[in-house]
Amino acid sequence: MDQITQQFTDEQAMLAWTHANAATLQAGLVIHLHGDLGMGKTTLSRGLIQGLGHTGNVKSPTYTLVEPYELGTLRVYHFDLYRLADPEELEFMGVRDYFADDTLCLIEWPEKGAGILPEADIDIVIEPWQQGRQLSFTSHSEKGRAQLKAWA
Ligand code: ADP
Ligand code: MG
Repeated sequence: MDQITQQFTDEQAMLAWTHANAATLQAGLVIHLHGDLGMGKTTLSRGLIQGLGHTGNVKSPTYTLVEPYELGTLRVYHFDLYRLADPEELEFMGVRDYFADDTLCLIEWPEKGAGILPEADIDIVIEPWQQGRQLSFTSHSEKGRAQLKAWA
């Protein structure tokens, strides 16, 4: 499975999907989230992180660049690189340590980290659809393909 699309009439529908489908997420995945400001990248990330069992807040990492979550044996890193001035800054943050076999990385504005960030296993593009959103998932690795299969 290389590509799937999902359409959601509103935010509640998208969150319901994340809550039902987060549990299949595998450690080691790098997911890049694309879409304009306000398109729902943080909302989607929040749904997935809470779907994985996080009960607290999921705030946007706009200013911190990254927020970590420990969910059992899985470490989740939620990035928002919108304010990153230079991809080199990621090196100073020691960001390579964040990409490991037991981590799941959800990255908003991955374009800002081009050249330093690892390639995506899955790209998710969020676009307007009716009053809601369409999500297009594209896999780029065996791991990514397996995940889309679980989600299809
Ligand atoms: P981003 O992180 O892409 O900038 P946010 O998730 O912060 O976007 O904000 C998205 C906005 O769109 C919020 O106001 C949210 O209520 C709304 N929204 C999120 N997901 C959906 C959806 N599936 N359908 C309609 N509105 C949505
Ligand atoms: Mg955001």
